[in-house]
Formats: sequence, structure tokens, C-alpha cells
Amino acid sequence: MASQFWKPGAERPPLLTDEDDGLFVMAAQPYYSSGYMTIERQRQTLPAFKHRTPLLYLIENHATTIVIGETGSGKTTQIPQYLVEGGWSEGGRLIACTQPRRIAVQTVAARVAEEMHVTLGQEVGYSIRFEDMTTPGVTKIKYLTDGVLLREMMEDPLLVRYSVIMVDEAHERSISTDILLGLLKKVQRRRPELRLIIASATLEARSIAAFFDTSAERRSQSQAMDLVFPSRKPAILSIEGKTFTVQIFYTEEPVSDYVRDAVSTVNSIHKLEPPGDILVFMTGQDEVDETVQLIQHETENRHSDLVALPLYAGLARVDQEHAFGPIPRGKRKVIVATNIAETSLTLEGIVYVVDSGFSKQRFYNPIKDVEALITAPISRASAQQRAGRAGRVRPGKCYRLYTEDDYTNLMSAETVPEIQRSNLTSTILQLKALGIDSIMRFDWLASPAPEAMVRALETIFAIGAIDSDAKLTSPTGFQIAEIPLHPMLGKTLIASCALGCALEMVTIAAALSVQSIWVPSRGRQKELDEAKLRFAASEGDHITYLNVFEGFLQSQRSAQWCHRNLINYQALKKVEDIRSHLSKLLQRLGLAVKSCERDIKVIQKAIVAGFFANACQLKISVEQGCYKRIRDGEEVFIHPSSVLFRVSPKWIIYHANTVTERHYVREITVIESPWLMELAPHFFHHKSMEY
Ligand code: ADP
Ligand code: MG
Repeated sequence: MASQFWKPGAERPPLLTDEDDGLFVMAAQPYYSSGYMTIERQRQTLPAFKHRTPLLYLIENHATTIVIGETGSGKTTQIPQYLVEGGWSEGGRLIACTQPRRIAVQTVAARVAEEMHVTLGQEVGYSIRFEDMTTPGVTKIKYLTDGVLLREMMEDPLLVRYSVIMVDEAHERSISTDILLGLLKKVQRRRPELRLIIASATLEARSIAAFFDTSAERRSQSQAMDLVFPSRKPAILSIEGKTFTVQIFYTEEPVSDYVRDAVSTVNSIHKLEPPGDILVFMTGQDEVDETVQLIQHETENRHSDLVALPLYAGLARVDQEHAFGPIPRGKRKVIVATNIAETSLTLEGIVYVVDSGFSKQRFYNPIKDVEALITAPISRASAQQRAGRAGRVRPGKCYRLYTEDDYTNLMSAETVPEIQRSNLTSTILQLKALGIDSIMRFDWLASPAPEAMVRALETIFAIGAIDSDAKLTSPTGFQIAEIPLHPMLGKTLIASCALGCALEMVTIAAALSVQSIWVPSRGRQKELDEAKLRFAASEGDHITYLNVFEGFLQSQRSAQWCHRNLINYQALKKVEDIRSHLSKLLQRLGLAVKSCERDIKVIQKAIVAGFFANACQLKISVEQGCYKRIRDGEEVFIHPSSVLFRVSPKWIIYHANTVTERHYVREITVIESPWLMELAPHFFHHKSMEY
């Protein structure tokens, strides 16, 4: 079959239209059949397959090709393989495919390695932050997060190792996707031979096509520009396969508790509808777990044969695989997932979708400088994507747990790009490090709010990463930009090298970079509090992490020890991994990674050196744990998860903040107020401080 490719120089192959359905055999395929087909056969039944030759033609002839196709049509898994088959990896060149999410990177790379009958990490590899599973000289297809590709641009601004870069899931408009697209447009001017593929599940791609259309530029320079090769006019290819109709149902009245309603909807589908798996969309991990438990509980009570499985980004690899794997014969699978099942992961056999109508979305308030994850209504575009998941294998049904009126009047048409609702500190610093001096004039796909840009510039100026001309400082600014952590944490690490406590600080920074080092404690809060108390340091949460990690090493990395202490073993293994990455990085930057031999004060000072802007003073107030943030007087509260929750020390510094019912701060360390003047005099010079 490899002989069917279009070859450069050959006549342009016909582009298939939507009516041309000759090869499409999906309809004949019973929904449980994938296990009976060879992988090769399965690949050929995907909608992308019949577009393989036209696609290779377009990529050869256009600098940018935009591919639009339903989830599951084969964009992510097939296109990179077609590129290899079409010769784009010859001469040691790499094909990159970016994803907004780590979980999708790993899952998809594993799937493609399987399809190509190779070991993951060889011809097909992946790279996510702190984990590189590629083999130089061997790897041809590299799946990676868009954030990691951005980091690679710091060392290799023109991405010369890559022949083709496919930016996938572009419709999601993650911050890194937006930034990457802006930068790739610049790279293309310097490297006309580079090919870009932008893959999207929705038609919103038209605005991206307009963004990449540089065909009208620099016409006057040379008449020969008409002959320019490849064409700088983006090509658009729709690989829309046949999807089946999905019948949509709305609730008559607004729903007050969508978790409960989802569970009863699942039960009635199971009772009344023919076989077919069910996919339920919830907003976050807690809700997913709760829904799974409720379904399992009812299943046991009623002796029904539902198997409920969770799917979310923080799930361990083995548990993720359950959601993709087979279940016992005669049972019906219910996958309860977050947004990740909306477009980035394909699940087989889904016929029914239950849509809560909500997702967790990031919102940033640049005035309060707080980013919150808020459960908010999804957009109509998202609702359509979710419904579409039911029509992949045969006609399906989608049960929306909201009214038609809410769909029409309450939901917005499209999701707001993440860059317009996020803290931009890391983003702006990275752009600076990539040589983009004028942030305001950067070719943004969508411009962020000016207040958010100003706030970000203030922060990176305060930590000394840029000077008063907004130029990156040397070496501090460059060093902070090199560290793949929030710039304030990066500054803390650099300060810890100077203060002689970097060995401790890399452990703390690593612990702050994993989801949680404690096991989830639904209904076991008291037990968890007791476990925490065993390690609690009077200096606060950062030093507590250090105690936990030291205990782990003393236990010879015992899983049982972790279990006994309600500590997440996998998370600690990850911490160990990340800390070694970080200490190698610091050494590479020429910095000294030494231990302070339990001189805790220097660790506290290093934290102050990075996070001084988050210093707070206890308020003489009626409410327990109420603080005033020094820089702006904002009122904040210690989060109950902190070991300092009931302690209320006079001066604290925090790592993170969230607004729920209150403005909470978490990951807290006790400080002494003179340290603020000592370590950040420029910042506190004009602020009034009462001792
Ligand atoms: P797209 O990127 O267009 O959404 P994908 O390339 O991810 O589509 O998936 C194409 C097809 O490959 C899916 O419909 C499914 O049949 C199969 N597939 C993808 N990932 C997996 C997986 N992890 N396990 C089994 N099959 C998979
Ligand atoms: Mg995909």
C-alpha cells in the first residue's frame, strides 16, 4: 500500500469531496468490532486514510496546511505516520506533533508505537516536561506538549531538527498553542522549507488560516514571488468522515444537581436503551470520582451490569488504560470523564453521551492577581463536540443536563482563548527569552488583556528577570527563563544556589510541581490531618515537604511506608525524578547545588527571594487566619490544607492562591519581616510596613 503515495512532480491527485465515500466502511463495522480487525485494517477504515495522498500533496506544496476533522477521524495518530511513509523523516529529520495535554501525548504516542510495531521511545517517542522518551537519531515521530516545544525553541529557535510540525487540537486555543502559532509564523519566514500542519476539530480554523496567510506580503520585492515554493497561502483540507446523527435531548427544567441527574440518566439509558457505551462529562476529578462511586453503588444495589470508569488528567497510567480497555462480556461501560474526552482522546464504542454542560475553566483577575478554576458553562462549540462523541460508530443519543433555552441563551458560541483568561508571567518571560522584545507588538492570534500583560511585566521585573528597559537580564533573567517552572519558583531556586540550600530547594520545588504528595482523602480527612501532623514543620508547608521526602528516603523508598502515612508513592517517585532533573539543570547553568545541613532559615530566605510579592501579615481581626497581603492590602486566608491553618503566625509567604468562597492562600512558610527588606529592598522600599 505504500506505493499509492503522491510523489513530488507527479500530477496533482484529485481532492476527495464529502460525497465521495468509496472507501468508507465505518458504517458496516459493528461497534464492538475493533478487537477483531488487524491494526492495519483499522487504520485503513479511518476517515483520514482516503485523504492520505491529497494530504501529502498539499503538505508538499503549501507551507501551512490546515486539517479539519472530527475527533476520531485519524488526525493525531495517522498524519504523522503518513508523513514518515511519505519520506518527511528521511535524513534524520523529525516530525513533531504537539498536544495541549500531557495525558494525550503519552496515550497517543503509545498507540502509534503499537500501530507501527515499534517500542515506544524508539521510532515513535514523546516528550513532556521532566520526561523525555525519545532516542536521538532513531526517533522519527515525536509527540510532545506545545509547552515543551516552546522550551525547545529557547535552544533551537528555528527548530531546525524538524521537517514538519503539526500543531494539534488548535481549536482548544491553549496559551502555549497560541504562542507557538505566533512564533511558528515567524520561523516560517526564515525557514521556508519547514511545513506546518494545524489540526483542529472545528471550523474555527478559518481564522487560523487567515493568520497564516502571508502570500500577499513582499510582493514588490520580486516578480518571481508568484513562483514561490511552497505556496504561502495555507491549504485547508477537511477530512470530515461520515458521522452518524446524534439525537439531542434537553431537560425541561434547569438541573440543580447535575451529578445526581447524570447518575439517574445513566441508569435509565441502561434500562431502556440497546447496548452501547456511555460517556459522561463532568468538570473535575472530585466530581468524576463521586459520579463513578454513585454509579457503582447503585449497580451493586440493583445487581445491574454497569462498569463505571474514571478518566481525567491526573489519573495514574494504569487507571487511564482501564478506560480504553475491554470490560467483561455482557456488561456496559460507563466512562466518566473531564473535558479531556471532548476532543483529545478517542474512546471506542460510545453511543450515549451525558453532558453536564459545565467544565472547569481558568479565569484570571489581574487586579487581585489571582487565577481561579471556576466551574462555568461550556460554549456551544464544546457542547457540539461532546454530543459528537456519541455518533462515531452508529447513530447515538446525547442527553444534555440543561434546558434548550440555556443552550441558546446562556452559553457563548465559542470558548474564550486561554491567553485571555490567564496569568501571563511565565508566558511573557518566555517570549522575552525567545527574543521577542516588544510584547505589545507580538503577532498575537488573540491579544491578551493589557492589564494582564502589565501585571506580568511587573512581576518579572520585581524578581530581577528584566531590567527597567524591559530587557532580559543576564545572567538572572536567562537562568530563570531556562527553568521550566513558574518564574517566582525559578528565582527561588537560583537564590537557593547563592544561599547554599539548593539541594533542599530542588526537593521542595519538585514537591510543588506534582499534583499532590498525599493520597486523595475523600472521607478520611481526619486521618490525613493526623498523617500530615507526623511530618509537619513549624516553619510551614515547604519544610513539611522536605520532611516527607527525607522520611521516604530513610524508609528506603518503601511503598508500604507511603501507604501507612497516606503518602502517594507514585507522586514521590515523580518528585525524586523531577528533583534530579532540576539539580542537573542548575548545574548546567553553572550554579552550585549544595545542602544547608538543616539550617532551615536559609531555605526560608530563599523562598522570600522569589516570593516576596506574596508576603502577608496577620490581621488583628476577629477571623482566624486572616491576613493582609503587604503589596496591596488584599485580604487573604490560610487554606485549611496548610499545616499552618490553625497556627496563624505573624508573617507568612505563600506559593499559590485560589479564590473559592474566599481568597485562599496555600503552600505557606513562616517568615520574619526584616527578611523582606533584606532580600527585596527595591520592592518594599516604598511600601509601609508596621512591625
Ligand atoms: P483524531 O486525532 O482525528 O481525533 P485519532 O488519530 O486520535 O483521531 O484516532 C483515530 C482512531 O484511532 C480512533 O478512532 C480509534 O479508533 C483509534 N485509537 C486512537 N487512540 C487509540 C487508543 N489509545 N487505543 C485504541 N484505539 C485508538
Ligand atoms: Mg486528535
